[in-house]
Amino acid sequence: MDGKTDSIRYVFEALAALVFGHRCVVCGLDMEPGEKYVCRKCLEDMPLTRFWQWDGNPAEKRMEILAGVEHACSLFFYREGSPYRNLIKSIKYHGNTGLAGYLGLMLGSAMSYSGKYSDICAVIPVPLHRRRRRKRGYNQAELVACGIAEALSESRGVKVPVLPRALKRIRHTKTQTRLSGNEKAANVRGAFSLPRIIEFPPGSASPADGLFHVLLVDDVLTTGATLASCIGPLFTQRNIAVSVATLGYTE
Ligand SMILES: [Zn+2]
Repeated sequence: MDGKTDSIRYVFEALAALVFGHRCVVCGLDMEPGEKYVCRKCLEDMPLTRFWQWDGNPAEKRMEILAGVEHACSLFFYREGSPYRNLIKSIKYHGNTGLAGYLGLMLGSAMSYSGKYSDICAVIPVPLHRRRRRKRGYNQAELVACGIAEALSESRGVKVPVLPRALKRIRHTKTQTRLSGNEKAANVRGAFSLPRIIEFPPGSASPADGLFHVLLVDDVLTTGATLASCIGPLFTQRNIAVSVATLGYTE
């Protein structure tokens, strides 16, 4: 990393400390020097899914009913009433963009260790509609995707690109929070499109099946309806296989 990037990062971290204070996002208590976003105790107690090392895990089973995926994993269980829900809240509603990259990196490192994601050649975030993106100022899924791609790139020694414009949200959808499963599926059906053929670097197809394995990323996996409505358009390009990764997983 060059000096300029270092100093930019330093400025951002100093600003983040001013805005968010030096408090743990999960428990809200003051953190020790050297701790970042989440205190050591909350990191240790994090309800990790460990789906990355588990073939046929619940996320894969849930996605399998909706769309064919190679693998699926999430970082932590996103449970009702759990203080770990603050992680997603802080990213989505409090502008804690650094936390999204940090958790993405954590998930990406775990995925790298599992060896199951070693043929991912591009990371594609679930897009926000441009109106919502403008309002929020960023797409949280894209920030998570960048963290995951950084970890995958580092472990492979090959740059794994993030393709934030591979998919397009063509319909502004209602917020999913208060909808039932069926309503969610209807709400996002036909909401995404693949505006153009995705070009992959030569030699990046999986040696196993000759397909380009992409990783679709979102913040939380609930019913899987949003991810499934992204996978449909991706599969119109017939040389693609899809895996999915999210930070939170709702049981
Ligand atoms: Zn804590």
